[in-house]
Amino acid sequence: MSVREAVQVGRLPWSLECSSCGRTRAAGGLAGVCDCGQPYLLRYASAPPPDVKSLLAERDWTMWRYREWLPLSDGEQPVTLGEGGTPLLPVPRLAARHGLSQLWVKDESTNPTGSFKARGLAAAVTRAVRAGAKSFVVPTAGNAGVALAAYAARAGVPGRVYAPASTPATILSQIRSFGGDLVLVEGHIGDCGAAARAFAAETGAVDVSTLREPYRIEGKKTLGLELAEQLGWTLPDAIVYPTGGGTGLIGMWKAFGELTRAGWLRGTPPRMFSVQAAGCAPVVRAFEAGDDACAAWPDPSTVAAGLRVPRPLGDRLILRALRESGGAAVAVTDNQLQAAARELQAEGIDACPEGGAALAGALELEARGLIQGGERVVVFNTGAGWLYRS
Ligand SMILES: *Cc1c(COP(=O)(O)O)cnc(C)c1O
Repeated sequence: MSVREAVQVGRLPWSLECSSCGRTRAAGGLAGVCDCGQPYLLRYASAPPPDVKSLLAERDWTMWRYREWLPLSDGEQPVTLGEGGTPLLPVPRLAARHGLSQLWVKDESTNPTGSFKARGLAAAVTRAVRAGAKSFVVPTAGNAGVALAAYAARAGVPGRVYAPASTPATILSQIRSFGGDLVLVEGHIGDCGAAARAFAAETGAVDVSTLREPYRIEGKKTLGLELAEQLGWTLPDAIVYPTGGGTGLIGMWKAFGELTRAGWLRGTPPRMFSVQAAGCAPVVRAFEAGDDACAAWPDPSTVAAGLRVPRPLGDRLILRALRESGGAAVAVTDNQLQAAARELQAEGIDACPEGGAALAGALELEARGLIQGGERVVVFNTGAGWLYRS
């Protein structure tokens, strides 16, 4: 069915496919996860037509410039604060110091709410409000809570946020300032997730946890679309991504597949690398063991709050993307990631600890010979450093 036909018969022009058992269902209404417990991914009825590429020149630099790649029906307006359109910054001095010649930082700190969580939550809130959501709930290591609070406010709908009591104070104050109904939990994001599911079951609030609905992935997919456009519809050799729940990594890998099938890209897709903190590295451990799922990491601990995810729901999808792309996973210590964040700050980039982890990971991968000095490498500064300072 073409996009137009699907719209005419009143159906959304995409469907939901379980990433594990492959079962599909029509989109529409609230999405959730498959009966088998695994996440859905969106499948579009057709790829955007080739002339969409030439329309981009006239559009605003927000993630919605890629609307034909995103879950919006014809003429539909998203819930937006202008997310996306972030700079891709070359850092030649820093790179040369470490024997790299082509290193870029995709600086997500300039997003509304100060992190790339804005992309996913803008898409998720847009679809849920459209499906009739009256309230939201999210468990967070910090930044997803800020983003949910802001996009729920933008939509005029209340949002409940469960965050660890150890979350940086400035992040908590941002959640409150956007009107988020904040509940502090003694524990980590896994404990917050259990509280959020109980709240959703009790009140009917829509749970927008990572991968418990399929639209945050679509929003994060724009990281990959934007990167491709900024590099003239080519892709780097290596992408180094600080991985917690893995939404951005899974989303980018989905974007590269879709762009390749639509014939928009020159060259081959990049190797995808996950960086985690030594104090919480379930993906690294599973990757090295050759497993296709993660075991829960006991007592997760790191200053990089966004990486403190002991057992990501998208573990299978993360590991699949790493292996399919020829990438790998590495852990870095808090000392390494903080030193790397300072190096980015010395270039004027407001690196968060997770952004520092990405750079530290790239240097570690180079030291291990998994990235070569002459390769084109992109690291992600996923959020703003000021959110972690009090
Ligand atoms: C959430 C978060 C991450 C991890 O992102 P995932 O896509 O869930 O892996 C990394 N950095 C920051 C700043 C975050 O807020």
